[in-house]
Amino acid sequence: MAGTLYLVPTPIGNLGDISPRARETLEQADFIAAEDTRVTLKLLNHLGIKKSLVSYYEHNKAQRGDALLQRILNGENCALVSDAGSPAISDPGEDLVRACAEAGIVVTAIPGPCAVITGLSISGLPTGRFCFEGFLSTTKKVRREHLESLRQESRTMIFYEAPHKLVNTLEDLAEFFGVGRKISLCRELTKLHEEVVRTTLGEALERYRETPPKGEFVLVVAGAKPVVEEKPTTQDALNRVQALMDAGLSRKDAVKQTAQELGLPRNQVYETALQI
Ligand code: SAM
Repeated sequence: MAGTLYLVPTPIGNLGDISPRARETLEQADFIAAEDTRVTLKLLNHLGIKKSLVSYYEHNKAQRGDALLQRILNGENCALVSDAGSPAISDPGEDLVRACAEAGIVVTAIPGPCAVITGLSISGLPTGRFCFEGFLSTTKKVRREHLESLRQESRTMIFYEAPHKLVNTLEDLAEFFGVGRKISLCRELTKLHEEVVRTTLGEALERYRETPPKGEFVLVVAGAKPVVEEKPTTQDALNRVQALMDAGLSRKDAVKQTAQELGLPRNQVYETALQI
């Protein structure tokens, strides 16, 4: 019988955030697949767990994924961890989950630390509807296309960013969303120097241009205000009919065209046009 793939979240800063179930799963798995085995070894030492570790990261995931799949199909239980937070969220794991699901292997996710949810929940911005945008591409064209697609996004948006790229990213966000847009910059979450700066894109730029940022960031950006389409008024209809008649149209044709253009009932526009 095939084994199970367990997705095990690990602390994003505070070691106390490892859950009893995550710990138990690491203890009971046959082996652990880790993004960086050195990072995970430190955590296992802290937890007093000895377990066989194999690496599974961005640049070996294609062939290593096949080997892991085979081991699970042969009956071993695998616990997958990343360096910090939830595996498969801007971290290796997505492909392995898909391959296991396609092979009929049971995949179980243990809920736990995840930077995107931790940042969103303390951002102070609307949480009812949100979208996670991960890291923006470093390729200029892809990055701009991504931001362009978000111009009208009305849900709260969440981005991951490294400190040395923060100012550049804030500049791009301000260009596409405007300097007045609200942003919550969530830094060093769950760590000693945790800080949430709730401000606007313009003010954030001033602040971090002056003082280069340190630490890891989750950026939570308010969505665009929904565009409210203004309904045409009687005066708008009157003005348009008048303009069309001045241009030489008969009243009847001017009414017909105005009704079409403004999306108003023709008899309503006709009534209005009688004032001319
Ligand atoms: N899978 C992880 C998760 O969802 O929690 C995220 C891994 S991703 C490679 C790393 C990014 O997550 C960082 O660049 C930062 O944007 C965010 N992050 C991780 N830990 C954080 C922390 N303690 N405080 C703020 N942001 C953090």
